[in-house]
Amino acid sequence: MKTTITTYEYSYITQQVNNLTSAYLAVNDAQIRLAIRAKTIAQITPLLPSESLDAQQFLTGLATDRLSRTAATKLLELLVPLVEPFPTLSTKQLSKIFRKVKKLKQPEWANLQLHELTYLGWNDGGNQKKYLVAPFEDRLIGIQGEFSPQTIKGVCAICQTIGNVALFLSTTKSSGLGTYTKKGNYICRDSNQCNRQLTNLETLTEFLTVVQPQRRNRK
Ligand SMILES: [Zn+2]
Repeated sequence: MKTTITTYEYSYITQQVNNLTSAYLAVNDAQIRLAIRAKTIAQITPLLPSESLDAQQFLTGLATDRLSRTAATKLLELLVPLVEPFPTLSTKQLSKIFRKVKKLKQPEWANLQLHELTYLGWNDGGNQKKYLVAPFEDRLIGIQGEFSPQTIKGVCAICQTIGNVALFLSTTKSSGLGTYTKKGNYICRDSNQCNRQLTNLETLTEFLTVVQPQRRNRK
């Protein structure tokens, strides 16, 4: 039985609800609105913990025709306590993840919405660096790299959405040899925005498979 919502499921639900409220503004035909609403509810329902009263209240609210964006935001807040958030990591835990980094810039925890984060990403603008902590094969791994100050419009390698991206050159240690290879990918400048656009784990996992240190090849 499902008792929680994952962060990327929450992003998916939020996206679906936003699409629905946008459709309400554009569609005058009540029958079509009903059809769009039914489809949205059908897509969201399997992701919700069925026994949760908050989830039931959310679904009841969602059944309202022409739900406003403000009302939708309030409804989504009902689901927040059901989301398994990204864990808060201590400075010590982070320095363990990024062993090689001296004077690691810390994430701004106070400004983070942990229920929206499938991975944690933050920029060290002064040093043109980006740090990522992400779930991979049942643990959290750290990826760091150079992050270009030049932002362009393009598709992000993590969330697969068109937006403001920049070139991320990750430095990864190749298997056993001690040599470093650099791999370039365009990813969202704002990792918090990226997380809100990340609605499944597959694209993140694919990205991590490409950039992570290749442990599995080691004998
Ligand atoms: Zn992204």
